[in-house]
Amino acid sequence: MEAQQTKSVAVTILHNATIVTMDPDARVFRNGGVVIERDAIVAVGQSSDILHQFSSLAHQIFDLNGQIVLPGLINTHVHTSQQLGRGIADDVDLMTWLHHRIWPYESNMSEEDSYISTLLCGIELIHSGVTCFAEAGGQHASGMARAVELLGLRACLAESIMDAGDGLPASWAGRSTDDCIQSQKELYKKHHNTGDGRIRVWLGIRQIMNATDGLLLATRDTAKELKTGIHMHVAEIAYENQFVTETRKVDHGTVMHLEKIQFLQDNLLAAHTVWVNPAEIDCLSRGGVKVSHCPAAAMRMLGFAPIREMLDAGICVSLGTDGAPSNNRMSIVDEMYLASLINKGREVHTNGTTDPTALPAETVLKLVTINGAKSVLWDDEIGSLEVGKKADLVVINPSSWTMVPLHDSISSLVYCMRTENVVSVMCNGEWIMKDKKILNVDEEEVLSKAKHASAELLKRAGIKIPSRMNFL
Ligand SMILES: [Zn+2]
Repeated sequence: MEAQQTKSVAVTILHNATIVTMDPDARVFRNGGVVIERDAIVAVGQSSDILHQFSSLAHQIFDLNGQIVLPGLINTHVHTSQQLGRGIADDVDLMTWLHHRIWPYESNMSEEDSYISTLLCGIELIHSGVTCFAEAGGQHASGMARAVELLGLRACLAESIMDAGDGLPASWAGRSTDDCIQSQKELYKKHHNTGDGRIRVWLGIRQIMNATDGLLLATRDTAKELKTGIHMHVAEIAYENQFVTETRKVDHGTVMHLEKIQFLQDNLLAAHTVWVNPAEIDCLSRGGVKVSHCPAAAMRMLGFAPIREMLDAGICVSLGTDGAPSNNRMSIVDEMYLASLINKGREVHTNGTTDPTALPAETVLKLVTINGAKSVLWDDEIGSLEVGKKADLVVINPSSWTMVPLHDSISSLVYCMRTENVVSVMCNGEWIMKDKKILNVDEEEVLSKAKHASAELLKRAGIKIPSRMNFL
């Protein structure tokens, strides 16, 4: 990149790039430009027009030399406070994963741990082109908020909320419904709309087996009162549906029960939704519920989600990485590739043969941009490169062994692009990564703090990872 200093007005021009706008007309400018004034996009168009009209006003002009510009990518399900737990639960069964690794890890975290974990996670998110994420519900949202503010990211934060369930760690058991709601209202008051408007606070429900109906209803009503969203794990495993059928007296599972209590509304972001039948897909669609599909986590622990059917039913589906102990890789770029492959292969279940046309590249790009923005209830400001929206964007260098030759740039973004092709990331009009360097934190320092904090945390939580193979 080459910057030219001109006037002192805060206007930046990016030009000579393939601009994939993801706007309603699916416009792509072969040789396009974007003009940014402070935190917003003021023009998108052909490079020649942009330069002609705005050069004299510009503070900085970047010639992108044929690189690709995409809207900032949106990861709609990520557990930032689990990043220090990467590798603590690989190749173990679900009960070991939850009761002996994740719950002890999470219940022993301090706010400082959550802060360091979110910094570490945020660095990986930014490297993969993410400008906005939805926290799935973790520990100490105040620590997350501090990290997000510093990194320069945009986020919808939520805490892990539970008021029921067997076998919970002592420090979590016996938390009242009222306390769950009040503590989230306080978080909202403290952090909502902070960080120059980049941070929003959502309500969390960990999952139905850890929530009373009282909590579900109070969450629904509080979200309406605060005009915010709800993030919840929904229909993750077959046992969850069995549990709900037995305890809530409904004929299928979680989605049916949520429908019965009028919880399925357009501010609900449902993560995974793997175990849903056609009637439940209808319910999700009618309610305007958003679905976060996490392909890697689904393959590892949950099963095949009926994504094609949900998209056909008009449901807004987006993509998430889930947390480090469920996926290890927090790269939304990898999830794009996996989402495409898994859903092509999944057609074997319904049609007896794979379908290479399922989830084409344009669709996958939508999942991580405009659908992501709709899922986090922020599509009035992000998700596409359009005049008036916030300047959240990613610069991709396709001139490397991973992407050359570039015969079909749109498909290459899904099938060839790697995290390493992401060179620069802008959020809210500010560069947060430039030429692969994270700008707002010292990456090496975060890595060293993370190694120390995670070792201490595992010791405190009494988590021992059995050794494998023949270490000498
Ligand atoms: Zn999750």
